[in-house]
Amino acid sequence: MTTAATSMTSPCFPTIERVETVLVDLPTIRPHRLSVATMHGQTLMLVRLVCSDGVVGIGEGTTIAGMAYGPESPEGMKLAIDRYFEPVLRGADATAVQRLMLTVGKMVKGNHFAKCAVETALLDAQARRVGVPLSELLGGRVRAALPVAWTLASGDTGRDIDEAEQMLAQRRHRIFKLKIGRNGVDADVAHVAAIKRALGDRGSVRVDVNMAWSEYEAARALPALVDAGCELVEQPVASAAALARLVRRYPIALMADEVLHGPESAFELARAAAADVFAVKIEQSGGLLAAQRVGAIADAAGIGLYGGTMLEGAVGTIAAAQLFATFPNLQWGTELFGPLLLTEEILETPLAYRDFELEVPTGPGLGITLDEARVTAFRRDRQRTLVAVDNERKVV
Ligand SMILES: [Mg+2]
Repeated sequence: MTTAATSMTSPCFPTIERVETVLVDLPTIRPHRLSVATMHGQTLMLVRLVCSDGVVGIGEGTTIAGMAYGPESPEGMKLAIDRYFEPVLRGADATAVQRLMLTVGKMVKGNHFAKCAVETALLDAQARRVGVPLSELLGGRVRAALPVAWTLASGDTGRDIDEAEQMLAQRRHRIFKLKIGRNGVDADVAHVAAIKRALGDRGSVRVDVNMAWSEYEAARALPALVDAGCELVEQPVASAAALARLVRRYPIALMADEVLHGPESAFELARAAAADVFAVKIEQSGGLLAAQRVGAIADAAGIGLYGGTMLEGAVGTIAAAQLFATFPNLQWGTELFGPLLLTEEILETPLAYRDFELEVPTGPGLGITLDEARVTAFRRDRQRTLVAVDNERKVV
C-alpha cells in the first residue's frame, strides 16, 4: 500500500488520460413512428476513455427522436461531457468507478443519459482491466441470453403484420410491441386487434402509448385492448397518479416507462402501486448502477421487470444486456433491438440475435469491438477530418 501522499505524486492506479466524444449518424431501416415523432435515423454519442494503462473503455448515449422524447440530446451530451465531465475525469483513478461517478454527480446535476454513457465507459474499462465480462462486475449473470421484443411502428397495419411474420419466420422475435397513440383510440385498438388476430398464439402483442392518452381515453381503451388480446400497455398516460388510478382496473398489465427516472422515482411509483411492470432503462435511470437499484426496488415491491431501450446502438444495447443478464427477475424480457433498427453495422463482430434472444457477449468488458473505419465513416464531423485544412466555418 502506498500512502496518500505517495499516490498523489506517483499514482499506483491507472488514471484517465483522455476523454473523447463523437457523434455518429446512422439511418434506420424504415421510418420509426412513435406518438411523439417519426425517426428516420439515430444519432449515437460515443464516449471513449483512454486510460494510462492502455485500457480504453467505451460508452454510448442516445435519445429517441432528438429532443422529442426527453430533455437530453446527443449533441447536448457531447457538450456536457467535453465541457463539464472531462475536467473531473481527466487524471482521476480509473478503477474507482462509483467514487468517480459520485464526484461527477457533485459537479453535474441531471444529465442522466450523459452520466450513463460515461459510467458505461468506466465500467467497460474496469471489466477489461480485470479480464471479466461487465456482468461479472455487476454481481454475475444469471442468464446467457435475453428474450428480445420487436417494435412494430411502420404506421401501417398490413406492413406491420408482414414484418411480424418475417420476424417469426427468422426466429428473431415473437414478442411484438406496437407503437400507438398517434391515431384515435378506436383506430388504434382496431390496429392492435388486426395484428393479434393475424399472429394468434404465435406471437404476443403489447402496446406502447408513450403518454398520448388522457386518463379517460385510457379507461375507454384498456378493456378494448383486453378484448383484442393485448397483454401489456406501456405508459398509456403521462402522470404517475393517473397510472396508479388505472392499475388493476382491467385484467391487463400496465408498465411505467417515461415516469421512471432512476431509483427515487422507482421508489415513489412502487409506494403508490402505480405499475405492474417497470421498463428499466440504463440511460433514463442515470447509469447501470442506478438501473440495478431500480431493479432491486421493483423486486422488493413485487413489480415485474422489463429491459427497456432508448434505441441505443450496439454499445448502449450491450451495456444494458450486461446488466439485464444479472437481474434475478426479468419477467417480461427485453426490447434490446436497437442495433437491428439501424442500416449500418459498427462492430467488428455483429451481435448474435437468434432463437428469439440476444446472446450476451462473454469477452472482457462489454465484450464487443468497434469497427473504427465504420465509425469514422459515419462521424458527423467526418468532413472536418477528411479535409486537411481549417474548415471550421464551412462545416454546418
Ligand atoms: Mg416506452
